Amino acid sequence: MSQTADTLQGLRNVLRVSGCKYCGSARIIRYGYSKGGRRVRCLECGHTFIWANSLPFMRFSTDVVASAIELCGNGHTLNAVRVSLYSQYGVTPSVSSIFRWKNRF
Ligand SMILES: [Zn+2]
Repeated sequence: MSQTADTLQGLRNVLRVSGCKYCGSARIIRYGYSKGGRRVRCLECGHTFIWANSLPFMRFSTDVVASAIELCGNGHTLNAVRVSLYSQYGVTPSVSSIFRWKNRF
């Protein structure tokens, strides 16, 4: 297994343990902020809750970051990765964010 694949697996494990606390789904989106931290919304069951387990340096869900890293690994340019993330998740991380994720993992 390549290092990138290992990293992606690790990220997905993080995501799994940090999923929705109501239904366990990993399909979580950002939903603003509350006193306790980041508020997120589960796309499966619709509950919102404070997500204390999110990785502190990430403004985007682990799924988005994992996809970005995967796309970079497939040889896509940073701009192509952004376009793809937008079509899949409706988010547009900055090129520098993607660059940082890529180097971080
Ligand atoms: Zn849920």
